[in-house]
Amino acid sequence: MQDCIFCKIVNREIPAKVVYEDEKVLVFHDINPVAPIHLLLIPKQHIPHLLAADEVDEALLGHLQLVAGRVAKDLGLEEKGFRLVTNNLKDAGQVVFHLHYHLLAGRPFGWPPG
Ligand code: 5GP
Repeated sequence: MQDCIFCKIVNREIPAKVVYEDEKVLVFHDINPVAPIHLLLIPKQHIPHLLAADEVDEALLGHLQLVAGRVAKDLGLEEKGFRLVTNNLKDAGQVVFHLHYHLLAGRPFGWPPG
């Protein structure tokens, strides 16, 4: 999508520190990290949020979560763990309307979230 910042990252129109890529997904560092490890996992396909996803996206969404687990393992997080978060729409604080999962790690996180 033309005005989507994450589509621009997928198309290499703006730079990002990419840590993983395959034909369906891209994983890169968040520009404004809120934890020692803060990655964003996105489908390359433009889907604004989970409410816009459909049955045809089932495999893609499953793949995204498996990639999250693999990346976490590669980062050595098997023992301490990590948090995977997706903000959907206004009350959740979604700012970029291209579906993304935040992979957060490197410090303990509280619950409930703020
Ligand atoms: P949201 O609140 O929509 O779930 O989170 C959007 C995230 O995207 C934020 O954590 C923000 O720091 C990150 N972000 C926004 N613009 C850019 C960018 O141009 N590059 C990267 N790497 N991250 C971005």
